[in-house]
Amino acid sequence: MVVTTTLSDPDQFVHSTFASRYVRTPLPRFKIPDRSIPKEAAYQIINDELMLDGNPRLNLASFVTTWMEPECDKLIMSSINKNYVDMDEYPVTTELQNRCVNMIAKLFNAPIGEEETAVGVGTVGSSEAIMLAGLAFKRKWQNKRRSEGKPYDKPNIVTGANVQVCWEKFARYFEVELKEVKLREGFYVMDPVKAVEMVDENTICVAAILGSTLTGEFEDVKLLNQLLTKKNTETGWDTPIHVDAASGGFIAPFLYPSLEWDFRLPLVKSINVSGHKYGLVYAGVGWVVWRNKEDLPDELIFHINYLGADQPTFTLNFSKGSSQIIAQYYQFIRLGFEGYKNIMENCMETTKVLREGIEKTGQFDILSKDVGVPLVAFSLKDSSQHSVFEISESLRRFGWIVPAYTMPADAEHIAVLRVVIREDFSRTLAERLISDIEKVLKEMDALPPRATKVARVTAEMVGKEGVEGDGVVIKKKNERETELVVTTQWRRFVERRKRGVC
Ligand SMILES: *Cc1c(COP(=O)(O)O)cnc(C)c1O
Repeated sequence: MVVTTTLSDPDQFVHSTFASRYVRTPLPRFKIPDRSIPKEAAYQIINDELMLDGNPRLNLASFVTTWMEPECDKLIMSSINKNYVDMDEYPVTTELQNRCVNMIAKLFNAPIGEEETAVGVGTVGSSEAIMLAGLAFKRKWQNKRRSEGKPYDKPNIVTGANVQVCWEKFARYFEVELKEVKLREGFYVMDPVKAVEMVDENTICVAAILGSTLTGEFEDVKLLNQLLTKKNTETGWDTPIHVDAASGGFIAPFLYPSLEWDFRLPLVKSINVSGHKYGLVYAGVGWVVWRNKEDLPDELIFHINYLGADQPTFTLNFSKGSSQIIAQYYQFIRLGFEGYKNIMENCMETTKVLREGIEKTGQFDILSKDVGVPLVAFSLKDSSQHSVFEISESLRRFGWIVPAYTMPADAEHIAVLRVVIREDFSRTLAERLISDIEKVLKEMDALPPRATKVARVTAEMVGKEGVEGDGVVIKKKNERETELVVTTQWRRFVERRKRGVC
């Protein structure tokens, strides 16, 4: 038992354990407290409250890394007090980030020589990376339009409606119109034909996703490149492509090396990837690389003189930790191509086991594809009785965090569950998850159908058509309408709880 005295409490022995007064009084929540408390008590109180957070390892909602080797944990802890931005003071850290940029650019087939340095930067995640890439496109487009004496005040960007929310953020913060290609039932990625149709002279770039957040599916960047090249030739524009490879950038090179999605395609000018997803580093690192120096307008780069050499920087923030960059370099040299390949193959095998188990219940349709990011997205074949949102809620009881969400426009009536397979999700865990899903399904069959109740109540709000035995007035709806009503209701319910997919 630790006993401490504090200066402000000179005579009082303070037991920092459960006998102390610190666990008896409510914690300050709105105002910084007047007095100090012993460090042991602070630790205990915070640690205990945090026990109520979910277990990150069982958080199947996220792509973000939840396990690293102890040796790397050690490196991370020993560099936790290093500010990345002090490049003069920590030149080796800067050098490690530059090496990572080179390695990633090479992995994505950037047209650079053996010993040539690549153009790119480490970021806090793909979101910052996408802001930077988007800014570069916007500025390049504006410069060109200005030099041609044409208006440059209405830039737009073409994406699928399945884009991650950070693209909407980019559009709003940097005043670029987001033109989204709508989805449809059974097709949940951007259709390159429609995307190219939407391109006009104000389009700063078309953003394709390698690993759609919703289903893990890769968009057809090769076809996009082909169609856009044709359009560019016909119109005289030179609309480029950005690939958002946040999750797929560390999958495709190892599992599908012959898939052409990267700098092998001439119109691909920049690519982002999340180091903290399949780059296998804890949260806090992403990367953006450009094809050539010419693709990153010089006026966006700040030049820092470090050790007499020029270190170009291009980021949105200033200070940040160094640990994640060091950890990324650790993973690259520790695992090598071989190691990454093995891990991604394992993830894919586990995905297959899980998918087969889910299919075997006979109650789900699988929406994810065999080729893509290792995840299983699945929807209920029949959601007239129960919904995926109920399944998600019930799985919580077993500790599993499995998100349920509805698809974007025009497939909003489809609600899905998604399980992301990470390195630390073993086959045994996959088998347990399958058996827990089976349990939940059995339980639900025995329960009164909550979903139809929700549908009925909503139907009551929408209109009247006949009276049911229990007095609930309902409007007869076709299957699609019912699905839409049910999923909308549940979506509201879930949104109130502020849970989403990331
Ligand atoms: C995760 C993700 C992002 C956002 O990346 P962060 O690294 O979390 O900032 C963007 N796009 C796609 C496709 C993603 O999967």
